[in-house]
Order: sequence, then C-alpha cells, then structure tokens
Amino acid sequence: MKTVDIIVPCYNEEEVLPEFIRVTNEVIATLPEYSFRYILVNDGSKDKTLLTMIKLAKEFDNVKYISFSRNFGKEAAMYAGLEHASADLVIVMDADLQHPPAMFPQMLKGIEEGHDCCALYREEKERKDGFLRRGFSKLFFKMQNSMSSVKMPYGAVDFRVMTKQMVDAILSMSEVQRFSKGIFCWVGFDTKWIPYENVERTIGTSSWNFWGLFRYAIDGITSFSVSPLKFIFVLGVIMFIISGIGMLYIAIKAIVTGEIGSGYATTVCVELLIGGIIELSIGIIGEYLGRVFIETKRRPIYIAKVKNIEKAEK
Ligand code: UDP
Ligand code: MG
Repeated sequence: MKTVDIIVPCYNEEEVLPEFIRVTNEVIATLPEYSFRYILVNDGSKDKTLLTMIKLAKEFDNVKYISFSRNFGKEAAMYAGLEHASADLVIVMDADLQHPPAMFPQMLKGIEEGHDCCALYREEKERKDGFLRRGFSKLFFKMQNSMSSVKMPYGAVDFRVMTKQMVDAILSMSEVQRFSKGIFCWVGFDTKWIPYENVERTIGTSSWNFWGLFRYAIDGITSFSVSPLKFIFVLGVIMFIISGIGMLYIAIKAIVTGEIGSGYATTVCVELLIGGIIELSIGIIGEYLGRVFIETKRRPIYIAKVKNIEKAEK
C-alpha cells in the first residue's frame, strides 16, 4: 500500500480544522488503496489552533502536528511539513477547505499515470476577488513567466501531490527566503496541471492583505530572476545615449546659430527624470542586496516548539 502524507500549514485555523479533517477523512475513506497521514503545521497561531491539533491527534492516530515558536509564514510551514514527511507521496494543501480534498482521486490518478507531480490551478472566472487584486495577480504571473525561466500557469495554487523524489529535491533547496511556487517549478520533474473550481472561504478569514500580496509578488520575482537588474543597466545605457544626443544637439545649435537659450524648465525636468531613474535603480539593487543579506545569515527557516513527529531521515 502506498503511503501519503498530507501537509497542512495552519495559521489561526481553530474553527476550520475539525471540519477540514472531517471532510478530508470522508474523501480518504473512498481511497482504501492508500494509507494517509496528516502533518498539521501550526504557524504560530494566535488562537487555539494548537489545542485543536492536540485534540485531533488524540482522536485520530494519523494526525501529526508541528507547532512553531512564532509565526514564520506559510512558506516555512510548508518546508517544515516536507522535512517531516516520509511517505511515498506528499500532498500540500491549505486548511481552509479552499483546496477541495474531493480532488484527491484525480490528483493521485495523475501520479499513477506516471507523472511526478500533479498540481492544481484555479479556473479564472471563479474567484470573486476585487478588480485590483485580480489585475495585480494576472500581472504577477505574466511578469514572473516572462522574467524567469520558471514557468507556471495563471492561477497556480499551492495544492499538489508530489513523489518523495521530488520532495527531496525541494528540500535540497535550502534558501531561507522561500518562494514555493517558484521552487516547485524550478526543481523540474513532470507536472500535470489540473484545473479546479475555486471555493470561497466559509470559515475564518484570509490572512493576506494587498500589501502582503505585493511583497509576495516582489519576493517571487527577485528570488528567481535578475531581469530587473539587467533592466536598470539597459535603462542607464539608453539615458546615456539620449543625453549624449541632446548635448551634441545643443552644442551644434550654439555653434551654428550662436544662441545658447535659457532652458531652465528643461533642465529641471531632465534632473528629475535622472533622479527618478537613479532612485529606482538603487531601490532594485537594494531589493537584491537585502535578499543577499538575509540569506548570508543562514538562520533556520523555522523553529518548532512542540511536535508529535520526528524529522524524516533523508
Ligand atoms: N497560513 C500560514 N501562515 C501564515 C498565513 C497563512 O500557515 O502566516 C496558512 C493558512 O492557515 C492557510 C494557508 O496558509 O492554510 C493559506 O492562507 P489563506 O487562506 O489566508 O490565504 P488565501 O487562501 O487567501 O491565499
Ligand atoms: Mg485561503
């Protein structure tokens, strides 16, 4: 029998967790050829998520949990789950039932067909996000795909099943600032993409706000591509050429007509433009420098406080 570990990052999910386990158990019961185990990761929740996990672990033998010393973010929670997983297959999914467990049979079929991974993407029309958020998320996928060698379909979510081999490859990428959407693609392997209908969150609230998502998008781009750095280099070259032509024009005009002209407003505009470009460039360089700074410290990705499962031997 094949074993499957289900990794679930949880932040303030005390209300939804029992329901999540109940619904998922119903699906699991229809798949007797697999043996499932839950690895719930409490990412420093402020509510009683940990107590709920302990209760669930008492009720069900196959519920394991890891609880962080503080909130380290969903990426860290997923990493902790993967480090502790030892099954043949690993599923990663959200706790809020927005990733329907009813997709398990289809996902596992993908693996049986010989794929290394079966991942889901949200069908576009479904998500009732605000105009700004949808537009921004579209832009993000476009930029991400055009700037880096790591390609992913629009609407890709962190809901997937992977083989142990792929999980080991993901764990071998030990960067502290993790961007899983990119890492999943970067390691390669044969991924089958299947669409699913988005489900609105019914219990609890999403922990993302607009700026959180903005940061996430910048992290995504800067962790997998250096295109912005190349962009400012090209911008510098273009500015250099334009200003060269401008100076030549003024010089020739002064020689030919003998007039120099005041050009006060133009000077101010050009100054501002150049100033703006320099600021932008420093900002972009700073973004990368910041990443290097954090990465060189080699701090642990997460710190676990309590758990009822040991790290898997890799
Ligand atoms: N999550 C987490 N740590 C965080 C924020 C979120 O582990 O700091 C978990 C959360 O409990 C959920 C999943 O990540 O299982 C997705 O979070 P959420 O539903 O808030 O995001 P959305 O579905 O709106 O993208
Ligand atoms: Mg959600």
